[in-house]
This record gives sequence, structure tokens and C-alpha cells, in this order.
Amino acid sequence: MRVLGIESTCDETAAAVVETDENGRPHILSNAVLSQIAQHAAYGGVVPEIAARAHVEVIDHLVARALDEAGVTFDELDAVAAAAGPGLIGGVIVGLTTAKALALVTGKPFIAINHLEAHALTPRLTDSVNFPYLLLLVSGGHTQLVAVRGVGDYVRLGTTIDDAIGEAFDKTAKMLGLPYPGGPEVEKQALRGNPERFALPRPLNGRAAPDFSLSGLKTAVRVEGERVSPLSATDIADLCASFQAAVVDVIVDRTRAGLRAFREVAARPNALVVAGGVAANGAIRAALHQLATESGLKLVTPPPALCTDNGAMIAWAGLERLRLGVTDDLSAPARARWPLDSVKAEVPAEAAEAET
Ligand code: ATP
Ligand code: MG
Ligand code: FE
Repeated sequence: MRVLGIESTCDETAAAVVETDENGRPHILSNAVLSQIAQHAAYGGVVPEIAARAHVEVIDHLVARALDEAGVTFDELDAVAAAAGPGLIGGVIVGLTTAKALALVTGKPFIAINHLEAHALTPRLTDSVNFPYLLLLVSGGHTQLVAVRGVGDYVRLGTTIDDAIGEAFDKTAKMLGLPYPGGPEVEKQALRGNPERFALPRPLNGRAAPDFSLSGLKTAVRVEGERVSPLSATDIADLCASFQAAVVDVIVDRTRAGLRAFREVAARPNALVVAGGVAANGAIRAALHQLATESGLKLVTPPPALCTDNGAMIAWAGLERLRLGVTDDLSAPARARWPLDSVKAEVPAEAAEAET
């Protein structure tokens, strides 16, 4: 089976072709991604209107490139999938409409993918992970702990009640005068800073519900920064190190709470999976590795290029659905909001029979 996947929910335009071999093992044939970071950098964040226009300008080239690099024609595809949300609606419409038009003219099935579901299923593309598993999704827009029980069977155990973790990294960086996107910059500064110099809060640590809160931590960085201002290079490095150490503590404590909550909704997890752009952070990876080892779990962290937004994850989620016989109507709407909990996979009766 071979699926084209299109992604345009935020600031990456992406198209990819993924196929499964006769043993059902996945292969990424192409994964073309064009980041708009440079176009948004001057504003210190993603500007929705600029994002939507930028997707329109490049999407057809990216689809052509994905097919070209994969060495396949439209005829050799089994379906066309696109992220239908959640995300910035102008961008979502661009990718979704492109996929629908391609499905219509080629006569191939169309599959509408929830962007979060695609992040959630990525570990099955990069590693052989069986259901169920615990997913920690940490990106610029999302911070969630999810019990992944099957395709279309997700239980959100916890989420952030204010900022996403990536957003907290980006806002902290901006406050300290570091360039956008701030995550990698903060990590770089933290390497040479003193993580114990500033006593910062660990919001919600110790609570049973595996939720997150980041805005108080970000405010505490601002207050400490103002207290020692004007900031020297050492002050900035120490603030970054102290901030990152607090985030690491929060992630470990909240994930531990997530593992406890997991037991109430599923059998023992087969892995702890970390996805999203923040999963690129070395200190966070190391701490989660230790937590997984302590808990007797395998830690799965897809490579950074598949952790951040990409087309292969959309193609793969499409393939997981297609092989269950789940496809969508061309009337599938673009959605700005689309909670992962509400995603289902309605397996048609004939397909369910064929499986057994
Ligand atoms: P979403 O996928 O939720 O719609 P997004 O596109 O912003 O949002 P990603 O592209 O997955 O998310 O990740 C980008 C985020 O990851 C940014 O907030 C960025 O600062 C953060 N990030 C990237 N690298 C690092 C790092 N080394 N340390 C911390 N944060 C990082
Ligand atoms: Mg992004
Ligand atoms: Fe994403």
C-alpha cells in the first residue's frame, strides 16, 4: 500500500509518500518539508495570514517533489491523505483542498487525518511499537499525555491548562532577547549556565491529575530577570539553565502521574513515546530515558525530523487507516479545533469481516 500525505496546519508545508511492504513494514519513500520559520521570525511567532499564503505558494511544488523523490506517479498511489486539523484554519484549508482535488481527479480514496493522531502514530512508523502505549506530545502548540490504545482509540489523560511547553521555551527566549524559535537557543544557553542559581516553581508537581501549567514558570523567569537586570551573558545562561531544569522536573513528575493514570484506561503500556518539537531537547530526552528505565519501559523518540511537523506522519496515519478500510468522504471539514479524544476510526462492516 502507498499513500501520499499532505501537511499544512501550522508553519510547515509538507508532502510525503509512505508505503508498506508485503510484511506490513513501513518505508518512507519521500518526505519533502518546507519550513516558513524565516517568514515569521521577524514577528517572533507564526502569523496565520502569512502562513496560509505561504502554503498556497509552494504546496503544488511540494507534492510534485514528494512524488518525484519517491519515484511514483499518481496512478501508483492507493490513497491521498491530508491533515484536516487542528491548526490554523487558513493553512489547513490549503492542504486539505489540495488533497481532495487530487483524490477527485485521480479517483483515489481520500483520508482526513487529525494532526495529533499523526503525531501519536509516528512511533509505529519509526519503531515497531504495539498498542497500547503512553504518548507525551510536547510541541509549540500542544502539551498532552495520551493513552494510545489503537488506531482511532485515544484517551487524553492530561494537558496544559495554559501555555504549551514549546511556547514557554519560545516566550522565555523572547524575554531574554534570544532569536525565534527559542527552544534550541534556550537549550544552547542552558548548557553553559547554572541550573541552581534561580529558584523557579515546578507548577502542579505532586498532583494526581497529569496536567501541566507553564505560565507561572514563564512569569517567574521574567520576575527574576527583572530583579537582576541589566542581564549579563552569565545571567541569561543561568536563567535558561534554571528554566530548563524546572521544565525537566515538571515533565518527569507529570509523566509519572500519566503512567499512573494510564493503568485506569488500558493494559500495561508497551512503551513511553515522546513526540513533538520539544522532544529534540537533550536534557528532556535524558530525563525521560531515566524515567522509562526506572519504570521498566522502552523509551521511543522518533528522530527530530519526524517529531516536528512533516508529511510522512500524515501519510503513515493515512496508511494505518486505509489498511483498516477506513477512508473519508470529500465533504470532510477543515477544523481549527479537533480534540484527539473525539477521533474515531469507523471500520466498515465488510472490512471488519475480511480481517477475521
Ligand atoms: P504543533 O505541532 O503543536 O502544531 P509546532 O509546529 O510549533 O506546533 P513543532 O514544530 O513540533 O510544533 O515544534 C516546535 C516547538 O519545539 C517550538 O516551540 C520550539 O521552540 C520547540 N523546540 C525545538 N527544539 C527544541 C529544543 N531543543 N528544546 C526545547 N524546545 C525545542
Ligand atoms: Mg512547527
Ligand atoms: Fe505538530
